[in-house]
Amino acid sequence: MAVTTQGTHLDPWQDAYAAKADNLRESEIRALFAVVSRPEVVSLAGGMPNITDLPLAELAASAQDLIRTHGTQALQYGSGQGWPDFLESIAEVMAAEGTIADPGNIAVTTGSQQAIDIMTQLFVDPGDIVLAESPSYVGALGVFAAQQAEVRHVPMDSDGLIPQALEEAIVTARKEGRAVKFLYTIPNFQNPCGMSMTIERRGEITEICRKHHLLIVEDNPYGLLGFDGQTYPALATLWPEGVVYLGSFSKIFAPGFRCGWVYAPASIRKKVVLALESAVLSPSMVGQMALHAYLRDYDWIGQIAAYRSMYRSRRDAMIQALNDYLPDASWNVPDGGFYTWVKAPEGINTKAMLPRAVAGLVAYTSGTAFYADGQGTDHMRLSFCYPPEDEIREGVRRIALVMNREREIHNIFED
Ligand code: PMP
Repeated sequence: MAVTTQGTHLDPWQDAYAAKADNLRESEIRALFAVVSRPEVVSLAGGMPNITDLPLAELAASAQDLIRTHGTQALQYGSGQGWPDFLESIAEVMAAEGTIADPGNIAVTTGSQQAIDIMTQLFVDPGDIVLAESPSYVGALGVFAAQQAEVRHVPMDSDGLIPQALEEAIVTARKEGRAVKFLYTIPNFQNPCGMSMTIERRGEITEICRKHHLLIVEDNPYGLLGFDGQTYPALATLWPEGVVYLGSFSKIFAPGFRCGWVYAPASIRKKVVLALESAVLSPSMVGQMALHAYLRDYDWIGQIAAYRSMYRSRRDAMIQALNDYLPDASWNVPDGGFYTWVKAPEGINTKAMLPRAVAGLVAYTSGTAFYADGQGTDHMRLSFCYPPEDEIREGVRRIALVMNREREIHNIFED
């Protein structure tokens, strides 16, 4: 086998891959994972939830009981669409946000990430257009790139997606003779911006999509994490025939189960189930049954309330640190979710600065991760979900130090 001078093995199957394998990209966040996992680095980069306060002893007892009493069912294959009892539990979770969903329209996925992948496989041919917020979730952009979609970003303001800009994007693409397949949106506590779409905007956005017969993929992993307990109506309630809603247990409980769901109009749900069967045969029964037991036996709404207040304190620590250390940057103050979207001071390129930040023992995600077209060098996403408050503060302090050094160097070369 050939070996490079760095000692890495070349891939002997290089020429055997399908052309589309070329479109798989490591996300900027995963690329950083190994480095930022080092304990001395404060990571404000990833979106890992803080699950340290989960009732582990109770969960362990519940899992043990599940295997002992229902082991042969839990360890067996299940239905491709998901276990019917669990579909009912999911409908209850959706009801907590005010969405009345028929369990027959739900299908269980391996996290909402798989749901994004399946929706893209089902609807997007290479070269088709997907509309997404500007900026948008890096993991969805990776899927869209892998399936060779062209992503067009639609600008937002503080109320969410701008309706006129959305309509213009649809009309322009269609005038160009291009197929626009869906609008991908994260209306609640958006990743990476932390912003939510106002109720009025929800009406306008769904109306435009209805008028132009454009499917909406509504991705909502953070909807129950409003810091004041506030929730918003799902786009799927405003236009049930035209919205495919994606939910997830990752942020409101724990990501380790890798459990999400699709709530879709009947015809689309049928195709989703076929795609799921082709991908995984059936979702994990043991995972579904354990989650079902958690939702049945445990005060999961109370757990979400505890999460909300913990994330609120971390948000406060982040904002305080930004005020103290980065007065010439600007940022939004999110009222839910995991993220702050920071505009760097003039002259700072967040992508170029990142290796020096990591050398300075702090990591963030460069704004460029959240655009399909290279924008975002003037922004960074700071997550306040995982590190405790003192580390959040220390992380922001380190970013400020790196930025100051960056500007000193810049000034020297300018002079
Ligand atoms: N959508 C958004 C907006 C996300 O932030 C994430 C996780 N970071 C996902 C989907 C995927 O979540 P999961 O697959 O764990 O449900």
